[in-house]
Amino acid sequence: MISYGKQSIDSRDIEAVVSVLKGDWLTQGPYVENFENDLKNYFGSKYSCAVANGTAALHLAGLALGWESGDIIVTSPITFLASANSIIYSDGTPDFVDIDSSSFTIDPNLLEEKLIAYNSKGQKIKAVIGIDFAGHPCDWKSLNYLSKKYNFQLINDNCHALGAAYNNDITYAAKYADIVIQSFHPVKHITTGEGGSVLTNNIEIIEEVELYRTHGMTKDRSRLEKNDGPWYYEMHKVGFNYRLTDFQAALGSSQLKKLDKFVKKRTNIANFYDEFFLQFENIYSPQRDNSINHSFHLYPLKINFEKFSISKSEFFRQLRTEGINLQVHYIPVHLQPFYKKNFKFNKGDFPISENFYEQEISLPIFPDLSEDDLKFVCNKIKNILFE
Ligand SMILES: *Cc1c(COP(=O)(O)O)cnc(C)c1O
Repeated sequence: MISYGKQSIDSRDIEAVVSVLKGDWLTQGPYVENFENDLKNYFGSKYSCAVANGTAALHLAGLALGWESGDIIVTSPITFLASANSIIYSDGTPDFVDIDSSSFTIDPNLLEEKLIAYNSKGQKIKAVIGIDFAGHPCDWKSLNYLSKKYNFQLINDNCHALGAAYNNDITYAAKYADIVIQSFHPVKHITTGEGGSVLTNNIEIIEEVELYRTHGMTKDRSRLEKNDGPWYYEMHKVGFNYRLTDFQAALGSSQLKKLDKFVKKRTNIANFYDEFFLQFENIYSPQRDNSINHSFHLYPLKINFEKFSISKSEFFRQLRTEGINLQVHYIPVHLQPFYKKNFKFNKGDFPISENFYEQEISLPIFPDLSEDDLKFVCNKIKNILFE
């Protein structure tokens, strides 16, 4: 079965993990610190904190930013559930802003309309979570400008965009957002099994993130109310156990060395798809703005199924019987029963996202996808659509 995404593990990755397993230390230790340094160096942030997964990173981001009950926090509907769920963890009030129809990332103009609408009711948006969807960075200049003009916190859910560039800069993420969160789930660009990270240039934010990562415990002398001895620690806030293990971190450092190569392979696959689908009407490859380098976590192809004699679900079923397991990214979050029921969202609220959902399919894209498989996928899609 060819899936839409898959990890790429080689013998050096395996050796890196095995060498840690043979040592004395398994959970968070020196390899986590190394991995955090590697992340800082690669992504150009002042600070980094490795955590158990991307969802934990989002949770910690909200805690570190002091989100409270009733705070209005905005994201776009075309994202994984965790981006929006992180708002609920802090008992915040989620709202959405529709995507731009060519970048599929949050539309800054619609965001400003929403900011103005809240302001006119005497309300305020506390924070905005931008999703670098599929590997296409958001319009971070505009989002950053708005964050200063309207005074809100800015989070980059960067899970799809490791290795992407914005104005030729692969260190853009922590420059424009207060907090960047990443995931190292096996379908993402690099993997640690489960895993994630928080990046920031703000020391107060990283100190909070580190505190909440381990039960809200501190041994930092400058923070202690008193000091009974070398064993002494204090708890000031309720935190969690969101640590990464040392053997996962060793895998992460090994994988990060290959990120540039992985992005290149993904880009080659995307170029192949671009060229293949160019010949067909009513099929649309993802756009790439000149200002960005797409890192292609996903290849979101849009097919206007109304113009074909086959439905999207039948198309999916047929590809599955051929051994091709596509996905759809994503079902708009505001249409999930939980969000409809608790926050009164409805079909029609975010039409660009809803239309995107009708048309989008995510084609297989990962470094180890062979050229034969790539051609097989393209030809099956063509046959099923045009038979
Ligand atoms: C994968 C992903 C997450 C969550 O990451 P996990 O490591 O699976 O918890 C959050 N947001 C987006 C956009 C993602 O793709």
